[in-house]
Amino acid sequence: MSMNGFIESHTHASMVPYDGFKSMAAKGINKAVSCAIVISARHAESYFDHFRMISGFYRQVAATCGVELFSAVGIHPVGIPDDWTRVIDRLPEFLRDDTVVAIGEVGMNHASPLEKDVLRAQLEVAVNHNVPVIIHTPKENRPHIVDITLNIAVQAGIEPGLLVIDHANLDIIKQINDFGAIPGITVREQNMTPEVLVENLDLFKNGMLNSDYSNIMPNDPVGLIKAVEYMQSRQIDLNIIQEMAGGKAARVYRLPAGVD
Ligand SMILES: [Zn+2]
Repeated sequence: MSMNGFIESHTHASMVPYDGFKSMAAKGINKAVSCAIVISARHAESYFDHFRMISGFYRQVAATCGVELFSAVGIHPVGIPDDWTRVIDRLPEFLRDDTVVAIGEVGMNHASPLEKDVLRAQLEVAVNHNVPVIIHTPKENRPHIVDITLNIAVQAGIEPGLLVIDHANLDIIKQINDFGAIPGITVREQNMTPEVLVENLDLFKNGMLNSDYSNIMPNDPVGLIKAVEYMQSRQIDLNIIQEMAGGKAARVYRLPAGVD
């Protein structure tokens, strides 16, 4: 049985090779959400140009390959500009674009005072505009950082169902589920493997699969398909697969029903 209409719920379109977009379409991924990241950014303008590059230029490139591209806007913790409050001030303007569907990718690597301030400000924008937020989790000290993140989210007053905690794994899944947030599940060797996912499916089945493609580590632009194919081979209910590989993302990001 073939399935299609998959959604890549977290990628970085400006790093995806042309063949990566072609592979997405060939594997049945016809929509994708690109998360903002400007590594080592020092100027707010770097983010403004990045947002425009994704929602304009790369949306067109993806479309020529058969992938409808949406985007999230926000300040990634790997590049917090000196004048970061200027980005916060203009986020509402970028959110007015119909193809901008979330705040993200935001979050913390070290829970420094600056990272906390930047995260808090972005969660407040999300609450004020009733949009979902995609939260990055770090490589180290993860349960502690997630704990601080969730506390800031409570203070901001975000609805748990609009909070996506990404790179979920066994170490933080209970915190995510107890909060009522949505697990983002990055499928790759150094994050979630298809085997661990299927062994613990009850913990993760409320989540959204993604590949989080970038050029800063070993990566696969269609990594999430490995989980889809492995789940199919293990006779997992097709409704669960379809939900994790697209259905949930379509609702959370309120994506328009597309032509498949
Ligand atoms: Zn990412």
